[in-house]
Amino acid sequence: MPIQILSPQLTNQIAAGEVVERPASVVKELVENSLDAGADEIHIEIENGGAGLIRIRDNGFGIAKAELGLALSRHATSKISTLEDLEAILSLGFRGEALASISSVSRLTLTSRPPQQAEAWQVFAQGREMETTIQPAAHPVGTTVNVANLFFNTPARRKFLRTEKTEFNHIDEVIRRIALVKPQTAFILSHNGKVVRHYRKAVDPQQKIKRLAAICGQDFVNHALQIDWRHNDLHLYGWVADSGLLRPQNDLNYSYVNGRMMRDKTINHAVRLAYGEHIPSESYPAFVLFIDLDPSQVDVNVHPAKHEVRFHQNRLVHDFIHQGISHALESATELDFGEHTS
Ligand code: ADP
Ligand code: MG
Repeated sequence: MPIQILSPQLTNQIAAGEVVERPASVVKELVENSLDAGADEIHIEIENGGAGLIRIRDNGFGIAKAELGLALSRHATSKISTLEDLEAILSLGFRGEALASISSVSRLTLTSRPPQQAEAWQVFAQGREMETTIQPAAHPVGTTVNVANLFFNTPARRKFLRTEKTEFNHIDEVIRRIALVKPQTAFILSHNGKVVRHYRKAVDPQQKIKRLAAICGQDFVNHALQIDWRHNDLHLYGWVADSGLLRPQNDLNYSYVNGRMMRDKTINHAVRLAYGEHIPSESYPAFVLFIDLDPSQVDVNVHPAKHEVRFHQNRLVHDFIHQGISHALESATELDFGEHTS
């Protein structure tokens, strides 16, 4: 075969292979878009574990009629325009890839109304070639993305979908992870017409603890040591459970870098090291940790789904986290001695 440039349809589907692994990845991308649009109330409606329908509705700043088609194009984004922007990124999105990828493997409808527009408009794409049609629609200020029949045109992917329950559990977990870092946003998650989670807007510390308990369990809250640790531009905060609450599995660890959820080896290693001999080798610490740092000190463009970051000064960040957690654990131990009554 001679060398040829692939069609946009096919390049989008190839990109979708990396970004859209399963329904939960669609939910992650769409909810992140809603958050980037400043939404403080997001409805996530799921049918059949997401294979039937994923509908995300937000009250964010919307997309102007003239830009609706562009929003679905690959490498089209309103979030960066220069390399400097990329290096100082604070929005969750920047690759301009999600909507293009998702719409190449589903039947997608995007409906939006920015506040300055009198009516809403809608574009429809169906595992699409590049052309889309636009029509007026009824919708309040904000955006709804409707993703039906995910993977209808990519049978190989569809075959990898697990049971409805498993796929929904992955979605539930994505919403938990996001809800932990965005307490000021309300999330309403429903499955097959039934509301299964309602994380109410949490503004004051008490409401935030309530959300933490709803997501991580009251047990975690009872054992949680609060962290607030700083060094120059580095800020570590959140909670670690004392060694009275260890997990048989590594299933209660949530970490975030500049508000972005992550699974990061550096963070996990630093935390484990801080627990040191307090923790048997088959047990795992439970924690919810937020690390904020100068965005120019971290590369978020490592993985298409943005699951990973690279710290420019990895050692420094590692040691900083280690010290912050060690300090919290040591203070707690002293506290324990002080309060020991039995
Ligand atoms: P990215 O998030 O990387 O920019 P996406 O493909 O996810 O790429 O989205 C493309 C663009 O569409 C965004 O840059 C944004 O301008 C617009 N957009 C997508 N979802 C929303 C939303 N819920 N509210 C407002 N604008 C949105
Ligand atoms: Mg996005």
